[in-house]
Amino acid sequence: MTGHTAPTGVDSNALAEEDRDRFSGLPARQQPDWPDREVLRKTLDALPPQDLVSRASVAELRRELANLDAGGGLILQLGDCVENIETDVNASTRNMIAFLTHFRSHLRTRTGRHVVGVGRLAGQYAKPRSADHEIVNGVSLPSFRGPIVNSHQPTPQARRPSPDRVALAHAAAQTSYAAIADYHRATANLDPIWTSHEMLLLDYELRYLRRSEGDGHHLATAHWPWIGARTRQLDGAHIAVAATLSNPVSVKIGPDTAPEEAAELAAVLNPRDEPGKLTFIARLGHRNTDRLGPIVRSVHRRVEHVHWISDPMHGNTVQGVHGFKTRHVEHIITELTQFQEIVVAHGRRPAGLHLEATPEDVHECTENSHEPQDPARYRTLLDPRLNPEQTARVLSHWSV
Ligand code: PEP
Ligand code: MN
Repeated sequence: MTGHTAPTGVDSNALAEEDRDRFSGLPARQQPDWPDREVLRKTLDALPPQDLVSRASVAELRRELANLDAGGGLILQLGDCVENIETDVNASTRNMIAFLTHFRSHLRTRTGRHVVGVGRLAGQYAKPRSADHEIVNGVSLPSFRGPIVNSHQPTPQARRPSPDRVALAHAAAQTSYAAIADYHRATANLDPIWTSHEMLLLDYELRYLRRSEGDGHHLATAHWPWIGARTRQLDGAHIAVAATLSNPVSVKIGPDTAPEEAAELAAVLNPRDEPGKLTFIARLGHRNTDRLGPIVRSVHRRVEHVHWISDPMHGNTVQGVHGFKTRHVEHIITELTQFQEIVVAHGRRPAGLHLEATPEDVHECTENSHEPQDPARYRTLLDPRLNPEQTARVLSHWSV
């Protein structure tokens, strides 16, 4: 399959010094406080230079997204909040691929629409946190920032940012991409699955940003990066990097997004107003969906081509009574339903959904007030995920 030719790009066209300097001069939120930046630099320099994703595959995804509206197609993006790299990564990748392709065909069968399948996969390793410290078992510790930075184990030593983990995470990504390539070889006539993660850890991402003459820089760590709700500042480094990319880009839109700010983001990230280039992922919370209408109106006064998808997870996180962070499936469904109604009411097309979900039989999200309480069935490293049954229930509320 042309889109999944083995990546060949190596360091020959790595990002030029002046680009790197421009980005590193801009404010960047949510970056770890590395104990020794020189060690980090050496680790990054020693990483294998090969692209994890090829330019050809990114171009294929761009074409698929550019044609999405014409065919009324949908986007189904799902996976873990954060991938666990201290496990059998080949097996967990294969399981996630099977889960994603199962629900992709489920949604396709039910809606009769083409569905683009995107995993939070093969690089979802860095996490933004609302606080620098968190209380675990009554003790204050530096927050877990994802396995590419520190360990989730609750000790001060484990929570120290370690460049060794960058190398481990990169090796996990290679293992995941090898499993994805195996899948594509075995199913040559089926639709490809695409990878995505939050483009958060700039030192790492810049290591795999490639120069190009034509259509923007190539980010070789994921087909489809997104910018999180905490790092989408218009004057910040994350948006500046995203604005240079040839990859399609998404941005999370939280309840604190001013309509004018969203319009400006659209103009900066999709300056040529190309179909499929930019996706906004609304994650407002079921009580804040009334903020979506003004945002949609404001954005479409500036650009025509934006895909709107719903992340009904991240605005609906609550502290459960048994001490586990949870999300109520009923709130998730309310937000998803209102999202579709509001986008349609504004004359636009709801283009799909973004979920945190796992093939494992976990109990992390709450249904009918039945809150998680069994540590053996609460396995997420960070945010609560839908199990397969809950995923099916949420998807059954996709109605457009
Ligand atoms: C996430 O997707 O895991 C995440 C942190 O999302 P947001 O940026 O929307 O809070
Ligand atoms: Mn999350």
